[in-house]
Amino acid sequence: MRKFSAHRIYPVSGLPISFGIIETADDGTILNIRNTGGQPIEEAGLEFYSGIIIPGLVNAHCHLELSHLAGLIPQRTGITGFVSAVSKIRSSDPEKIRQAANNADRKMYRDGVSGAGDISNTGITLSTKQDSRLQYHTFVEVFGLDKANAAIRFEQALQLAKAFNDAGLPHSISPHARYSVGVDLWELITREITLTRRISIHLDESPNERELLEHRTGIMAENFRQAGFDLTSIPDEASDVFKLLGKYLPDSDWILVHNTITDPLPAPGSLKSGVYWVLCPRSNLYIENLLPDIEGFAASGLTVCLGTDSLASNLNLSVLDEMKTIMEVVPGIAFDTVLRWATLNGACALGMEKNLGTIEKGKNPGLVNIPVFDWNKDRLSAESKSIRLI
Ligand SMILES: [Zn+2]
Repeated sequence: MRKFSAHRIYPVSGLPISFGIIETADDGTILNIRNTGGQPIEEAGLEFYSGIIIPGLVNAHCHLELSHLAGLIPQRTGITGFVSAVSKIRSSDPEKIRQAANNADRKMYRDGVSGAGDISNTGITLSTKQDSRLQYHTFVEVFGLDKANAAIRFEQALQLAKAFNDAGLPHSISPHARYSVGVDLWELITREITLTRRISIHLDESPNERELLEHRTGIMAENFRQAGFDLTSIPDEASDVFKLLGKYLPDSDWILVHNTITDPLPAPGSLKSGVYWVLCPRSNLYIENLLPDIEGFAASGLTVCLGTDSLASNLNLSVLDEMKTIMEVVPGIAFDTVLRWATLNGACALGMEKNLGTIEKGKNPGLVNIPVFDWNKDRLSAESKSIRLI
């Protein structure tokens, strides 16, 4: 057994506990949380850490297979510039891709991430995930507007899903975005009920996306036409994500990723259960130099999670750095709110809440120490870093 304490423990499942003591089994399972009445206690074998202890973080949206693109994609080119830069250099030596994914995975673990939702177009990250100490949910991504290729695209996704299944790795099939999946592909997706119980879709990333969906005009629409994409195959419902998903995936959990320009935000009561909103603020700044309505989300009552997106559009895969960015741009936001986004909400979105997301008896969430904390303002400071304890 190990015993951990710090100036303050944030279990997330309840109020913070000053000088609380967390007892864990050798495998990291939480055995007990002791409240010392706010007093530091000295006892044999107790490991005391300066600052705070939080549960392992959850990265609700990343693309490990793009890790080899770190530092290669120019910033602030907008989504069309980003997509064209990625597609130009995406093909690379498989060993290099695998190695970069491995390194990114190990670094995420050390930085305190215990669970991740990962978008995969290939099986190249399969071995990384098998060897990883993180829990992953893999979203096997499908896209394609071309009617003639829909069946082939979907068959490839099924094969990839089978490979993750054979490896014993949690997975589902997921549509890429509203503008990149044609009606024929949606018809195939909708039939695959067991493989689409939990889907993750890119949403509202840029004004160009909205213009394409609402009017079939703008730079994205022009680029699509030039590339020979069939814009007529985008479903009529696509301009309204709730109509679209309500038609094709009514019984799935929906993880909506980015929401950079989502406005107005819907009232939680107007939505079905199982709708999650992932914010990736540093990726949005990297690609579009835009930010979602973070304050609005904080006030909305919607279930918000945090993601890093990939190393193609971020400087690292640190969930703590996403939290710090949010606290910098929204000074009034409460640390508890952002911590819940970075832990429990992501765990729920990915179906990992039985084990991750809170420091509770019986769970094995991992423990993370943040030695530097701004006690005056009850928030992270620019110097805060996340260090995995177990
Ligand atoms: Zn993404």
